[in-house]
Amino acid sequence: MLKIEDINVYYGNIQALKGVTMEINEGEIVTLIGANGAGKSTLLKTISGLLKPKQGKVLFEEGSIGGKAAQSIVKMGISHVPEGRRVFANMTVAENLELGAYLRKDKEGIKKDMEKVYELFPRLLERIKQQAGTLSGGEQQMLAMGRALMAKPRLLLLDEPSMGLAPLLVKQIFNIIQEISEAGTTILLVEQNANLALSIADRAYVVETGRIVLSGNADELTSSEEIKMAYLGGH
Ligand code: ATP
Repeated sequence: MLKIEDINVYYGNIQALKGVTMEINEGEIVTLIGANGAGKSTLLKTISGLLKPKQGKVLFEEGSIGGKAAQSIVKMGISHVPEGRRVFANMTVAENLELGAYLRKDKEGIKKDMEKVYELFPRLLERIKQQAGTLSGGEQQMLAMGRALMAKPRLLLLDEPSMGLAPLLVKQIFNIIQEISEAGTTILLVEQNANLALSIADRAYVVETGRIVLSGNADELTSSEEIKMAYLGGH
């Protein structure tokens, strides 16, 4: 579904991604594991068109999206939930969700998807008219995910959905990620909590200072001594 071939991405003179190659197959949950500053968010931003690779290819369903504008990439079926869940603070929950569908014209479809989002996140339905800025951190995460789903993505990019949330809420958010996956959306997940990410993922890539240093099935990586020591708090 998504193929990245040998991309280099820079911030000015600083190279953040160095020859990254990876792929995501339809229906998978793929996770990126790596320390702070490894380049995980940069990779998501490159896929969603917020950053342009200086070299290499980004292919989505065989077509190149490497130089395209972020808006056309959303239209093609990729939605990005950035780190820090940026919701529109002065708008209500419902208005935020409507904005997620701003590139769509199928009114009936939009209405149905809005109902699906409220089924997935009943908490948002209870707070439909509340200003998004007054929601709790967990509720804002739900809203950011719901808004991304309103674009009807085939590929959903999630950047650190568990950040700053209480353990019970993290569990809830991860259950919902699994439900989204089971309903047919392919997922690329960036997560500090490698144990948790590997527990729901099919495959994973390990990123270190801008390079992919290891990849494999989630099960294999979970039992790898190297991964246990470096990322899973093992001994
Ligand atoms: P984290 O888990 O801390 O978010 P990450 O793996 O997502 O880390 P990135 O945010 O992709 O890492 O950052 C990769 C590298 O690029 C880091 O060295 C970071 O300092 C640098 N970087 C990120 N954004 C910018 C920017 N806007 N300008 C310059 N350098 C940047």
